[in-house]
Amino acid sequence: IKRIGILTSGGDAPGMNAVVRAVVRTASAYGISCLGIRRGYSGLINGDIIELGARSVDGIIAKGGTMLYTARCLEMLTDDGLTQAANNAHYMGLDGLVVCGGDGSFRGAQALSRKGVPAIGVPGTIDNDIVCSDYTIGFDSACNTAIQAIDKLRDTMQSHERCSVVEVMGRRAGHLALDVGVACGATAILLPEREIDFEKSIVEKMRANRIRGRKHHIIIVAEGVGNAQDVADRIHTATGIDARVTILGHIQRGGSPTVRDRVMATRMGYHAVKILMEGASNRVVCARNNQITDYDIEEGLAMSKDLNQELYEVSQTVSI
Ligand code: ATP
Repeated sequence: IKRIGILTSGGDAPGMNAVVRAVVRTASAYGISCLGIRRGYSGLINGDIIELGARSVDGIIAKGGTMLYTARCLEMLTDDGLTQAANNAHYMGLDGLVVCGGDGSFRGAQALSRKGVPAIGVPGTIDNDIVCSDYTIGFDSACNTAIQAIDKLRDTMQSHERCSVVEVMGRRAGHLALDVGVACGATAILLPEREIDFEKSIVEKMRANRIRGRKHHIIIVAEGVGNAQDVADRIHTATGIDARVTILGHIQRGGSPTVRDRVMATRMGYHAVKILMEGASNRVVCARNNQITDYDIEEGLAMSKDLNQELYEVSQTVSI
């Protein structure tokens, strides 16, 4: 193969730049030229591209966000848009395309592969919700950002003997909330995947913890569970404890990627180019048991991944 393209799509995640760098550098090392396609699939449809050489990606491994910008592109969902994207990829002389994003972005990669553009997905999302991969790029950085913010909240909550109700990202998946909850010593973690008995798991626990001398509480609420203010109001009504809401929001998506994200992004980006060179198409790169591997996109997205049950049980036990 002579030329490949790289784009970032869907919600951004720390480590996307590190994927771009790894793809460009690996391609360059094997004498393959690389085009950066900007603003996700929109750039493919509109021809918004830049030439990327090994030196164009110097220093970006440490930067959050994505130098290629990202976007959601509704045109890709139409026949005309998809055909235009595939035609442009052929016109640009692309022998392969690496797409860093979430499952929606992989559907786009699958559709392009069917149109004769060999496309490979690399999981980049802070939610860790790509079912065929143990890990998605951005997760560790997002957890660390959340923890740094919550540690600061803890200082002020402790001084006032308040309860902090913190909403973290995760509409459909609670992986981020669970890791963050364990890492900040939350009294309770509300996850989309687990029903809880509010009275028993929160109210009674807070009362019991108070008797044991605990002066403040942190409750982690995954975005998809419901309104954090409702949770705070219910706590206040039931216990009389002053409960304050903090919604971490987009801050979780920013910042310099952690070591784990930089390393995973580099391994996954490298793998994506290697399999393109072997003639692969319609694959998603995954981490399984700390090995980097790949699956057919359809097969990969049909797999299932549950919350880490062991970690959930641990969190319940140590939060007294
Ligand atoms: P995140 O996890 O951050 O939401 P995502 O990749 O799942 O990331 P989506 O908005 O679902 O985000 O998808 C990103 C883009 O992928 C869409 O805007 C669209 O351009 C393309 N896409 C999604 N689904 C399809 C599909 N079925 N066919 C073609 N393209 C698609």
